[in-house]
Amino acid sequence: MADRSPTSDLMNCRLLIARPSEECGCPEEEWLVENLLLTVHFEPDGRGHIIIDGGDWEVESEVDAADMASLRQHAFGIIERMPRE
Ligand SMILES: [Zn+2]
Repeated sequence: MADRSPTSDLMNCRLLIARPSEECGCPEEEWLVENLLLTVHFEPDGRGHIIIDGGDWEVESEVDAADMASLRQHAFGIIERMPRE
């Protein structure tokens, strides 16, 4: 089983759900990162979808990823670089 530890010490984060996607069966995780809902979705062909839900806004991006761990790391990196109050 892949390592699910958070990739960041800077942020308050917690794994909510890890399960296959209802739509396509790909591995999917939902994290609460500070006040953001992060969804990471790993396609077996090496693409990853990252969805960051801030409540009244949403950011979606598609990246290349070797596995769920690197996809997750990428997603946390995006959030870390976001401007914050
Ligand atoms: Zn999928």
